[in-house]
Amino acid sequence: MFEPGQIISYQEMCHVEGASLQRGMNFRLRGGLSVILMSQRRNAPYLDNISKDGSTLVYEGHDAPKSKENPNPKSIDQPEYTPNNNFTQNGLFNHAAQTYKRNGVSPEQVRVYEKILPGIWCYNGLFDLIDSWRELCGKRKVFRFKLKIAKAVNLGAKKKTVGLLKHDRLIPSSVKLEVWKRDQGKCVICGEKDNLHFDHIIPFYKGGSSIVAENIQLLCARHNLEKKDKII
Ligand SMILES: [Zn+2]
Repeated sequence: MFEPGQIISYQEMCHVEGASLQRGMNFRLRGGLSVILMSQRRNAPYLDNISKDGSTLVYEGHDAPKSKENPNPKSIDQPEYTPNNNFTQNGLFNHAAQTYKRNGVSPEQVRVYEKILPGIWCYNGLFDLIDSWRELCGKRKVFRFKLKIAKAVNLGAKKKTVGLLKHDRLIPSSVKLEVWKRDQGKCVICGEKDNLHFDHIIPFYKGGSSIVAENIQLLCARHNLEKKDKII
């Protein structure tokens, strides 16, 4: 599995998830964890937001598919049900979030990937789906899903705590893009172009910021690992 902040290709992402991820929302992909894809690029089709402290993410639901009967999906409410009365992906995620809120069961866990540039993706980490709602956006209703960085991996009844070091906060998309351009898509130490990670120069738990490019750099897998060993 990837580490949060790891930069990957679309193919690597599909390979690890064992599926082609054309859909942005994938509830319990092949019976396992759920997976969502996000993008905050200027021409992105949906509005996804990372909170200022980098701990939560608000993800927009998805439109009905475009068809003859529905030539402009952006003009109608995002659907909860399919024409056959099954849940859409919006409906599945919404149902899970509301069940969590109502019953206090373990939240649905979701892996989040983000597109930074064409062909360049970042694994943002594992999140708990903690809330959902519908709100008016222009003249129609859209779904919103609130996700918080997961503190533990739910493995059936058992819970496995995620290590603190892996727990750096989410880096806003604009900062990711700025760092990628500044460091020219290469490890700042050795120039390696594969297996890159967004690294917090001063880790978040030591007071480092996630929201300024000055505290983020690109490191290859080797130098990322070497640095983590030193910090421990
Ligand atoms: Zn390196």
